[in-house]
Amino acid sequence: MVLADLGRRINSAMSELTRSNVVDEKAIDNMLKEICTALLESDVNVKLVATLRNNIKKKINFKDQGPNVNRRRLAQKAIFDELCALVDPHINEKGEGAFKPRKDRSNVIMFVGLQGAGKTTSCTKLALWYQRRGFKVGLVCADTFRAGAFDQLKQNATKAKIPYYGSYTETDPVVVAAEGVARFKQEKFNLIIVDTSGRHRQESELFAEMVQISEAVKPDQTIMVLDASIGQAAESQSKAFKESSNFGAIILTKMDGHAKGGGAISAVAATNTPIVFIGTGEHIHDIEPFTPDQFVSKLLG
Ligand code: GDP
Repeated sequence: MVLADLGRRINSAMSELTRSNVVDEKAIDNMLKEICTALLESDVNVKLVATLRNNIKKKINFKDQGPNVNRRRLAQKAIFDELCALVDPHINEKGEGAFKPRKDRSNVIMFVGLQGAGKTTSCTKLALWYQRRGFKVGLVCADTFRAGAFDQLKQNATKAKIPYYGSYTETDPVVVAAEGVARFKQEKFNLIIVDTSGRHRQESELFAEMVQISEAVKPDQTIMVLDASIGQAAESQSKAFKESSNFGAIILTKMDGHAKGGGAISAVAATNTPIVFIGTGEHIHDIEPFTPDQFVSKLLG
């Protein structure tokens, strides 16, 4: 089920409740059943769905409520809040957001993710996003594995008028990354974004390389790029990346397409890591900051 359909299904379950004459436990159970089925069909992890269901039930426990409580409104708020909590691992904690670059220093952001996820595209989008907000941004291509990776980044960067660094001759990505970051730091760039490889002969080599690059450039933030349309696979993929790169944020791409979204929601929960931006198209301007309540509002239309 695509994300828009998920929103429609949840909405229709909620309006069913609004239309029913009595809002009793049975009506609430019916609504929750429909919402949970919709979430499961969108690939949200079964444990998460069970937690969401229990939390909502606890919040609208009829035994604790007086007769004058507006149960419909209570139910709506509980559902909204729990859907927000599902996509935001920090909403119930101190509300601390992800890392934010500052203009008075050189910030380094490293990108990781499997090939095809939209890493190179997202690097440029994020670079442009910050450039338009007054940051001096540079892009470094540390993918020496895939032929054409540097050309792709170069093309994107040129289009967006963003300085870039890469090499056609150096085969060690750690060297390229370190050199690029050092060069941009020397030139007092505020934000240096490092693109890495998404493929290797062996998965273990890819992860080892990420660790080495990370040790060389000491990123202030590592962002994992995740394709929103990959469903359940998102969970195991992001767990594997978390173990090696310990990323601190997620960019969810292809949210404009037929994204199920549920897998991505599970990835957030599995890694306890917030989504910071979403990709909404193939063009360099198609990026939006992610805010859980806006996302859920939009989901529910
Ligand atoms: P990489 O291998 O991870 O670096 O992935 P690329 O950046 O090369 O992107 C792979 C494909 O996904 C390209 O065709 C991109 O245009 C496309 N892509 C990336 N982000 C988005 C997005 O948010 N929406 C859509 N529709 N396509 C995207």
